[in-house]
Amino acid sequence: MINQLIGYSSKLTLAGIVGAACMFSPPVFAEVLRGDLDIKNLTIGIGDSKINVVVYKNTSKPSGLTFLSLHNNEQTFNPIVIASVIEKGGSFVALSPPLDKGGNLCRFVPFSVGGESYYFDPNRIWDDNRIKVGLSANCISNELGSIPSSPAVLSKVNSAVVGFRNDLIRVLGINNQDPNLYLVVVHNNRFLAFDSEKLIPTACAKRYTSKSQASDQASRGDFFFVTDDRTFDFYSSKDYNVVKQLPSTLSTNTCLDGSLSIYAQSKGLPFTTVEVNYSDDGDSDRSALKAQKKSASMLKTVYNAYNSLY
Ligand SMILES: [Zn+2]
Repeated sequence: MINQLIGYSSKLTLAGIVGAACMFSPPVFAEVLRGDLDIKNLTIGIGDSKINVVVYKNTSKPSGLTFLSLHNNEQTFNPIVIASVIEKGGSFVALSPPLDKGGNLCRFVPFSVGGESYYFDPNRIWDDNRIKVGLSANCISNELGSIPSSPAVLSKVNSAVVGFRNDLIRVLGINNQDPNLYLVVVHNNRFLAFDSEKLIPTACAKRYTSKSQASDQASRGDFFFVTDDRTFDFYSSKDYNVVKQLPSTLSTNTCLDGSLSIYAQSKGLPFTTVEVNYSDDGDSDRSALKAQKKSASMLKTVYNAYNSLY
């Protein structure tokens, strides 16, 4: 169930946002400081818990271009996305689950059902069967949550996650069949090299990749991940690393990846993932400043793609 927290809807300028919510000081953009941004803090109920979801929208420049941050521990793009939405229009939806026990931004979404704690990866909830597998295996860490103790409990917990996912679909407007909707998911990674076979480091990798182009110019680990040919061709022509998802993934039920890219392709929804490589390991190619500059350049290209293709 989606609730809007009354009193939290507000309009802020970029200056306020940058001060409040960002890891980095983005190299932006005197002109966007004029812009207003409508911000809504929603909560989505799941089991006994509520998860915050922040929706940033440029109401004066409406657009079907909708950015999404699923992994709250991957913040490199966020200030640049917000600045871009203020300047150029569109909206940005950011999951904001609670911090972990150490006070760190958390990739996973924790919740409780019947007094037991569970969690999920928000990019593994887009296939109902994958949700069940993930909850049953608890394959990442026992510290975050329990394994459901019986089929009946599993069914209840599974329903809670499915309900959360469906509410998020409503927030994103996917079910409104807006012909202008173009969903762009932003991620960071720590890949050390561009290798289309290894971009998705799971058993599903080969099913994902139908074609790819490696750029001489773009840095390793920075790439677009797309689901259709014309978007592939657009980003390829701008000399970026691009990977296209294998369409036949949709017709096999053996690849229970559960990621949003497969769900979007199954719905015929224009979709792109943007990944930027970032690490604080001292490598200058992967520094915060470099990641910011790359993020800004890639987002500019996303707007160009939207204006050209949709
Ligand atoms: Zn991610």
